[in-house]
Amino acid sequence: AVQIRDLHRSFTDDRPVLSGLDLTIAPGEFVALLGRSGSGKSTLLRALAGLDRVAKDGNSKDGDASGSGDVTVPEQVSVVFQDSRLLPWQRVLRNVVLGLQGPGALRRGKEALAEVGLAGRERAWPRELSGGEQQRVALARSLVREPELLLADEPFGALDALTRIKMHGLLRALHERHRPAVLLVTHDVDEAIVLADRVLVLEGGVVKTERRIDLDGTRDPSDPRFAAVRTEL
Ligand code: ATP
Ligand code: MG
Repeated sequence: AVQIRDLHRSFTDDRPVLSGLDLTIAPGEFVALLGRSGSGKSTLLRALAGLDRVAKDGNSKDGDASGSGDVTVPEQVSVVFQDSRLLPWQRVLRNVVLGLQGPGALRRGKEALAEVGLAGRERAWPRELSGGEQQRVALARSLVREPELLLADEPFGALDALTRIKMHGLLRALHERHRPAVLLVTHDVDEAIVLADRVLVLEGGVVKTERRIDLDGTRDPSDPRFAAVRTEL
């Protein structure tokens, strides 16, 4: 689903943020991306989402990146950020189906809201929802577009621990049902191991560590094998 070859990115100061990064993600694969603050996780996600403007002459200005590299992504890519980025002046269902065409759009939007546990909240305003509920709407908005690739930049970072665990269950269920490839950026090592098929650590502008998570379907953080993976990362 995703192929990145020799990706370079830097900003106005010359310190490279990404320096020759290679990454392949298979269709349906769930990959978690860890890394120190400032290691370039969001920069990588923006490059995948096509959200960074790269100056052709190699000189960046005004916060634009400069760089090079081959990036292949599927046609249908959805992005979820740390904050839901819902439009405050549109009701929940409108936010979900925004920009969608066709007679089935509203129905599919309702179905997506039901899938994330928000049936009946279609006509609510975003401000009437809790942070966790707003993130559910953001997930519904992504899923209704049936992405082949879902990019998520710390989507649960602003949520309390209990809500976060609920969201893990939801995201896993949605992934099993729709099978998009997922690249999830997180600071939470346990979240990465619980959710992903593969965990990457970004360091020095490249993927420094890579660990396949194969615990025979176990997703229990108290499993001793879990601790072994954690210390390796
Ligand atoms: P965090 O975990 O804190 O979100 P991150 O791994 O997502 O960090 P990035 O946001 O990708 O890190 O930033 C990587 C580096 O690039 C940082 O040093 C940051 O200051 C720099 N950077 C990112 N965007 C820009 C920009 N628009 N202009 C200048 N520098 C930038
Ligand atoms: Mg970031």
